[in-house]
Amino acid sequence: MTAKPHIDVVGAGAFGGWTALFLLRRGARVTLIDAWGPGNSRASSAGETRILRGTYGPDQPYTKMAARAKQLWLEHEKRWGLRLLHRAGVLWMVTKADDHYERASLPLLREAGIAYEELSSAEMAKRWPQINSEGVRWAIYEPDSGFLMAREACQAVVKAFVAEGGEYRQAAVALANSESSYRNGLRLLDGSSVAGSSLAADQYVFACGPWLGKLFPETIGQRIRATRQEVLFFGTPAGDARFSEAKLPVWADDGARFMYGIPATAGSGFKLADDTRGPEFDPTSGERTVSAETIKLLCEYLGFRFPAMKDAPLVETQVCQYENTSDNHFVVDRHPAMENVWIVGGGSGHGFKHGPALGEMVAEWVMEGKEADRVFRLARFS
Ligand SMILES: Cc1cc2nc3c(=O)[nH]c(=O)nc-3n(C[C@H](O)[C@H](O)[C@H](O)COP(=O)(O)OP(=O)(O)OC[C@H]3O[C@@H](n4cnc5c(N)ncnc54)[C@H](O)[C@@H]3O)c2cc1C
Repeated sequence: MTAKPHIDVVGAGAFGGWTALFLLRRGARVTLIDAWGPGNSRASSAGETRILRGTYGPDQPYTKMAARAKQLWLEHEKRWGLRLLHRAGVLWMVTKADDHYERASLPLLREAGIAYEELSSAEMAKRWPQINSEGVRWAIYEPDSGFLMAREACQAVVKAFVAEGGEYRQAAVALANSESSYRNGLRLLDGSSVAGSSLAADQYVFACGPWLGKLFPETIGQRIRATRQEVLFFGTPAGDARFSEAKLPVWADDGARFMYGIPATAGSGFKLADDTRGPEFDPTSGERTVSAETIKLLCEYLGFRFPAMKDAPLVETQVCQYENTSDNHFVVDRHPAMENVWIVGGGSGHGFKHGPALGEMVAEWVMEGKEADRVFRLARFS
């Protein structure tokens, strides 16, 4: 009998947590390490909710991945007795003239078995009169898609990982002087001594979201750029369900700016955000206070698209960061100089939903010594 391989996974966000769980299930001994914990407020997986949708434009692997991920989300929420996926539906409104992205999405949705309807502006207005349909040319409605509970899901994954025999450690992996030293072991800082402790394994998976550039300055550096993203939550009128998940789907508005939102749920307000990439942001020390410009912009938009929410009070705010690659594709690959070091990240503002499908895929590639799919490889940047 051969001994179980020992694998260290660094980062317990949407990517690392699921990868650790699937590596464990494939027979590895896995240690999962996170500096601040799963879904912590600095992580890209932070906050309460994330959208799950299949509309993704042409030539991409994500519609199919979203379908597989949804299946896994449903399986796991049943297994864990939790409600992680709220199938409120996703309404994707097309307000810009060029609808190539949306048209090209339809055959891929069909192929992936994701239910959808094409709606005219009038049909949409009839179904959801609380949305002002002005400027909306047509829409895609995915009735079985919806939103995920983000932090809760990250924590549930780590809880299951530990219950199934994985080891979780809250510690920071110290930045190495040279990237190549990660292949021999990690130095862990957990506050108990300045020198820290060391942890060696057979293989290492770094799923450190927006921190990957710092850990791998030569291989990643600016290839994954963290940008500041501001999210606002507005209070809905008292007793009025029109803006909560019972009556309103998750929505996106592909117009001059790409706006999106999630209906009020479980006590939180009506979520509204602008997908436009913000300025560069330091995920460790960046100040997380929203700007007056964003508040103004989003309040104006809110009053226009959801007239009954005009002048609604701002009840909560969040500053998060996207970890963007230049082509918005994920990075999943071996380090070019180290066979036993994998880099997994680059969620680029759309990674959360894919967590379970990505974790399943990465675990297969790591455990079976396979190559990553071309679209995710680092070589595309050179
Ligand atoms: C505002 C916002 C809205 C979004 N909306 C959606 C959406 O609707 N749908 C969707 O699918 N996706 C969405 N995304 C994107 C998605 O949330 C991210 O792509 C995904 O969560 C990234 O997960 P990750 O595991 O790669 O990174 P992270 O969640 O950042 O996890 C990385 C982890 O690594 C740990 N870490 C870092 N450095 C170290 C170290 N040295 N030692 C130990 N641990 C370390 C951190 O503590 C962190 O927990 C959104 C993102 C944001 C910010």
